[in-house]
Amino acid sequence: MQTYRLSLFVLIITVLTFSLDTNVYAQSSAKPFVIMIDPGHGGRDTGTPGTGRYKTTEKDIALDVALALGKVLQQKLANVKVVYTRNKDVFPTLNGRTTAANKKDVDLFISIHCNAQPGKNGTAYGSETYVLGTTKNKQNLEVAKRENSVIALEDNTEVYKDFNPNSTESVLGLMLAQEEYLDHSIKLARYIEDEFQVTAKRRSRGVKQNIFYVLAYTYMPSVLVELGFLTHKKEEDFLNSKRGKDLMTKSLFNAIEKYLKYLNFNTESDVLVEATQVEQPSNDIEFKIQIAASSKALETEPYNFKGLNKITRVKDGSLYKYYYGSTTNYEATKQLEEDARSKGYSSSFVVAFKNGKKIPLAEALKTIAN
Ligand SMILES: [Zn+2]
Repeated sequence: MQTYRLSLFVLIITVLTFSLDTNVYAQSSAKPFVIMIDPGHGGRDTGTPGTGRYKTTEKDIALDVALALGKVLQQKLANVKVVYTRNKDVFPTLNGRTTAANKKDVDLFISIHCNAQPGKNGTAYGSETYVLGTTKNKQNLEVAKRENSVIALEDNTEVYKDFNPNSTESVLGLMLAQEEYLDHSIKLARYIEDEFQVTAKRRSRGVKQNIFYVLAYTYMPSVLVELGFLTHKKEEDFLNSKRGKDLMTKSLFNAIEKYLKYLNFNTESDVLVEATQVEQPSNDIEFKIQIAASSKALETEPYNFKGLNKITRVKDGSLYKYYYGSTTNYEATKQLEEDARSKGYSSSFVVAFKNGKKIPLAEALKTIAN
């Protein structure tokens, strides 16, 4: 009984210590990279019917490719979480889609559509990937007009009263809100169009810019993909075929994988635990800023630490401690601590090491003073 009580006591203490640690540094736990896939249209909004030779319309092809893409992303990439704006034949409003993306802390938003040329049979074919921006190109304007026109089918159009793609002032405001994400959006859009050409052997009409509602109101990197023209017979056949959908899905997957690599995001499941965190043996006192602790071993890439580099990871009991910077000069820790706090690590603090071993800060300061 005594032993039982003792082990219960130890267990409680362990749990308390652990939860205290994880609470204080909750922000450090490995957040998955969240990708929201948005199959265009749905329900009573069919999207373009294409040539009319198929029962399927834009909404069906967009959904098929979206679901296949989500599945392969989830299967092949660790640390990636896929969410959808719709995963069946329903009609989410444009505002509903962007609100969901912003609420769910999404890291990347990808909207999937098929293109159309006015009239039933067109000569235009090929893929296009859009990022937010302005254009004077008539064809690009038509595409945005068609995709945004869904708004007219919605019951509550009140939420769109400030969305006016024809007003320079309104557009400038939208562009400003998106500015910090635009580089990343363009990067992914280029990867996608490259992949369509190389992997799917399609004609790429390039990366384009225009004012799409779903791009303007998602506060993260976002792209809108037009897989191809359903008003072009051959392309419509291709996009309705299993082979066509598979190739477009594979291209999108490859592009997203490249994009994650570009971000230094770790998509491997077998992370090396101990190999990378050898402390430099040193006789000097060394100071570092502890920014986080987690039960998960994160790669010490800037991407995982809000852009901070020079991160070291040390296993300490059941937790991994993450430290930012390294200096022998205690005065310099102030700047390091400030850097870490400005990135959002508000509870970071200075830790001292002697010969690579953690020692109490007071002891370190005493040693320096002597
Ligand atoms: Zn569409």
